[in-house]
Amino acid sequence: MDHTQTQHGSQPDSNQAHASRPKASVDIEKQCGVPLPSGAQCARSLTCTRHGFAAKRAVPGRSAPFDQLLAEYRRAS
Ligand SMILES: [Zn+2]
Repeated sequence: MDHTQTQHGSQPDSNQAHASRPKASVDIEKQCGVPLPSGAQCARSLTCTRHGFAAKRAVPGRSAPFDQLLAEYRRAS
């Protein structure tokens, strides 16, 4: 019983974030992110029906256009 070297735990870029978004409690890559009257961001999914596409496209800081993230979100789920 001596499996010391499995090919596990050696992912070079696993800890490499695309960009750090310090004040985001909402993951705008996967969540709506539209600003709410309270000052927070909408934490619903990208498919949130409360906010229109225009509002979601206007959310700053996404790594890709909203439509692209939405397409990936739908593909993943
Ligand atoms: Zn929303």
